[in-house]
Amino acid sequence: MPQGQKILDKSKVAIQPARTITKVGVIGAGQMGSGIAHVCAAAGYAVALHDLKKELYEKGVETIAGNMSRQIAKGTLTEADKEKALGRITFAEKLEDFGDCDIVIEAATEDEDLKHKIFAAVCPHLKPTAMLASNTSSISITRLAAASDRPEDFIGMHFMNPVPRMELVELIRGIATEDETFATAKTFVESLGKTTAVSEDFPAFIVNRLLLPMINEAVYTLYEGVGTVEMIDKAMKLGAHHPMGPLELADFIGLDTCLSIMQVLYEGLSDSKYRPCPLLVKYVEAGWLGRKTRRGFYDYRGEKPVPTR
Ligand code: NAD
Repeated sequence: MPQGQKILDKSKVAIQPARTITKVGVIGAGQMGSGIAHVCAAAGYAVALHDLKKELYEKGVETIAGNMSRQIAKGTLTEADKEKALGRITFAEKLEDFGDCDIVIEAATEDEDLKHKIFAAVCPHLKPTAMLASNTSSISITRLAAASDRPEDFIGMHFMNPVPRMELVELIRGIATEDETFATAKTFVESLGKTTAVSEDFPAFIVNRLLLPMINEAVYTLYEGVGTVEMIDKAMKLGAHHPMGPLELADFIGLDTCLSIMQVLYEGLSDSKYRPCPLLVKYVEAGWLGRKTRRGFYDYRGEKPVPTR
């Protein structure tokens, strides 16, 4: 195992023979875990999907089926392919059920202690050749890898939301990640029809290092009364051509996830410019987490989203 940080020009890394992946384990059946299971099953992989309760798995599969129906309506998937893909997804009731997986991708709640516990608990049940990946938005891959028994076979695999629609997956090496693990991950991600961008292991990587401070600033703009929810989102949609306003996007990501990423940036980079807006904290404390709880900067309980401020 390498003892120090390797200085590598990633574009020149010789791709070494990749391991074969046929079965994928996914931990967490929320919006990201279900999205990852969706694209893996659609690409022909067998998928074992785990969450705390069977109902959460069932809700995840319901989301996948709904999203696949939308793809059928758009002509990008056939009914037969949908049925085949859904048939490849099974419920992993216990972590023991990941024993025949070639890779396990963790997509549970953005909480470092929780993720450490998950990796420590799943490792004894994996085959020795299995790889581990985390879909974390911000947490150090090196630290998460250290909670596993195989840091050299561990990688950050950061899918974007919504997974079936977004082209990019960020790949993040921990300090110990082997070249062969990286090559296998890259080949696997590309087999899902995605493109990779490589980020070093710094808080929030590339996409969220740029995106989340903008969202946090939008919440400050609201907090300080510079604009209303509606005006802030309209300003950025029509004035900067963003497809979604920053507050709408925050609700889509999940306000708990947004807060968690800001905390990782604030603590990890020790810079006050990343301090989470108190209004974001208040929404999370209220349990108004955005679309997933049907209330955030907008109220989604009626026919049309209504701003909550
Ligand atoms: P979510 O709240 O929709 O889903 C999290 C799921 O994890 C829930 O279903 C929860 O029951 C489950 N879970 C919690 N503890 C568990 C455990 N011990 N074992 C198994 N399952 C457990 O959250 P999400 O948006 O899907 O985010 C999941 C991960 O993906 C986080 O690390 C987040 O940072 C990352 N991510 C999120 C986005 C986004 O836009 N939401 C984008 C990229 C990456």
